[in-house]
Amino acid sequence: MIVFITGPMFSSKSKRMEEYYSSATYNNSDDVLVFKPSKDTRDDGYIESRSGKRIQAIKIDSLLEIPKYITESTTDIFIDEINFFENIPEEQNLLTGEFFIEREKRIHTIILLFEYLNYEKGINIFLAGLDFNSERKPFGIAPFLINIATSIDKLNARCVKCPAPATHTNYKGIKDVEVVVGSDEYEALCAYHWFKAQREKDPEFLENNIKKLELKP
Ligand SMILES: [Zn+2]
Repeated sequence: MIVFITGPMFSSKSKRMEEYYSSATYNNSDDVLVFKPSKDTRDDGYIESRSGKRIQAIKIDSLLEIPKYITESTTDIFIDEINFFENIPEEQNLLTGEFFIEREKRIHTIILLFEYLNYEKGINIFLAGLDFNSERKPFGIAPFLINIATSIDKLNARCVKCPAPATHTNYKGIKDVEVVVGSDEYEALCAYHWFKAQREKDPEFLENNIKKLELKP
């Protein structure tokens, strides 16, 4: 089983992961491994849901570090904030195609690794993270791993502007860096209110994005 838990910020992804973790560790927690990206500097290696539950996690830089922690008795692995793994800054992609190729190779290797761990070793894999960033760009490796999931828990938050389910994350200000870590600067919105919010920041944001694409070779 490869389970992917996704949805915008504030959609209780960590809480859902804790539920899976509680059932996986019902008899024994020694054979269950939990990972999170070292890039997430908000805490000392805990996965913490907004309900306050904490699970100790191993911090890693790349998903390719996972095999060194696996033993013959490992039954389940949990990885939080999956979207922060294997990201290469966009400006490097523009400078040279090498980074792009490097990323493609990494993604392919990780897909093979997860399928091997699951099908050959019988290890259940639980992944949680954002599928899109606040600009609706596919977030890191997440969209690729959604495709190998045997089940996807796509969660919604509640739109802060109306009672509709929130499917989008909005950055409340204007971003000057790609990734702003933290939750105070973000809010969950339905698609209607998300588009409205982007138009308020830049009335031609969609047109400008399409223009950018046309400029690429
Ligand atoms: Zn709304």
